[in-house]
Amino acid sequence: MQQDSLWQAVLGEIELTVSRGNFITWFKPSLLLEYDDELITIGVPNVFIKQQLERKYADLLRETLAKNGIMAPSIIFKISSAAPKSKRPSDESVLVGMPTPNQQSVVTAGGQSGSGQNQQQMGGNTNSNGGNSLSHSYRQGINERYTFDNFIVGAGNELAFAACQSIAQMPGTKYNPLFLYGGVGIGKTHLIQAAGNAVLAQNPKAKVLYISTEQFVQEFVDALRFRKTADFASYYRTADMLIVDDVQFIAGKEKMQEEFFHTFNALHQANRQIIISSDKPPKEIPTLEERLRSRFAWGMSIDMQIPDFETRCAIVQTKAHTHQVELAPDVVEYLATNIQTNIRELEGALNQLLAFCEMRNLVPDLSIASSILGASKSRPKHLSAKQIIERTARHFQIPMEDILGDKRDKDIVVPRQIAMYMLRSELHLSFPKIAKELGRKDHTTAMHSVNKIEKESRIDAELRTILSEIKERLYA
Ligand code: ADP
Ligand code: MG
Repeated sequence: MQQDSLWQAVLGEIELTVSRGNFITWFKPSLLLEYDDELITIGVPNVFIKQQLERKYADLLRETLAKNGIMAPSIIFKISSAAPKSKRPSDESVLVGMPTPNQQSVVTAGGQSGSGQNQQQMGGNTNSNGGNSLSHSYRQGINERYTFDNFIVGAGNELAFAACQSIAQMPGTKYNPLFLYGGVGIGKTHLIQAAGNAVLAQNPKAKVLYISTEQFVQEFVDALRFRKTADFASYYRTADMLIVDDVQFIAGKEKMQEEFFHTFNALHQANRQIIISSDKPPKEIPTLEERLRSRFAWGMSIDMQIPDFETRCAIVQTKAHTHQVELAPDVVEYLATNIQTNIRELEGALNQLLAFCEMRNLVPDLSIASSILGASKSRPKHLSAKQIIERTARHFQIPMEDILGDKRDKDIVVPRQIAMYMLRSELHLSFPKIAKELGRKDHTTAMHSVNKIEKESRIDAELRTILSEIKERLYA
């Protein structure tokens, strides 16, 4: 008992030091198992939390323990079934970074206490729905399944997560609009709907509208046809929060852009929150009117990326937990290594694996995982190393011989590195094999090149576009 209250004191202090999300994700589910002058043993529910605490927070823990009178030279983290676990899927805060709605009202972004301000923004809107002949046919469109609680936070999505969270706490005041962009299946829809759900949880009366741009366009076309544009306009212009998903589909739709421009202005002027998602930044959406483009840039734009390896592992493990399955770490890592670009695909592969095993009463293991994934990965089979190198050369409009040769000019070196990266990502060749394909003896250059491109593609959107263009052509 005493040990318990001691640990609560330590956690209380840590809570003041790290972000709310990190606290809930990494520290809350831990407990003090044992300590003496030599060793402190901390129990955690799973390997991901263990790794994260070891890598990032060991010093902080040691210092905080010392402040509370426990000094020992070493700390170990032990996976312990006694550690608080999440029991229900909705209680998944163990691996994610979001307080529950109740906790949320006390926590505000930046650590200030501002709950008064939180409440005041929303729901002041008295015209919701009422008296609008078309409104019954508009869906609010938010799926309750998408919450902050079941969104796993990590490198790649943490900034987007923090922005959505902070918007949900004080809609309309901070980042308005929030423009979130990034590739397919990386969690954009999940996050922006989670923001909507969080606002609704605080204020069920708020008029939170979520709409995919395709549906938005369709409704607008219908409104034009049935001469109901006034209804359409008043419905959307009186939202408390408007979430428009996949706005890239507005490209080329002039009338819709004009309508959206006015909607945008009306909402923005009234301090109503606008969230927009897209697969590319505003400047790359073709035929987007300049005035909309500039408005999209008024608030905050975030380049969201596929979560890194560790986070993908955590996603797989958490999703497996919701099916009451504890996967072996090598299976988790196998999935996270082999599906690197799309969380939807990652989920799909996991579901396939779990279904396969459940039907046959098997425990999922590496060989089953690799046979299932291998079977669905038929694409790379009919692709040769030569095709990849050729395609890369053609993309950069240089002769293939240059990639295979020794020239050191930058416009040759980068394509060469990209070709090596593609050999790795598409054909899963070993580094010595990659070196050989490029006519080189030493495989360290291949290793260096692959790592370099992998790292740079995390921060360089242009590079990511190049990679996906080459891939698209390869599989076309
Ligand atoms: P996008 O809109 O970027 O194409 P989605 O939001 O539809 O992607 O995400 C695809 C799927 O992956 C959804 O089922 C979503 O719940 C899941 N997903 C993506 N990122 C995460 C995450 N960080 N944690 C949990 N689930 C995620
Ligand atoms: Mg989406």
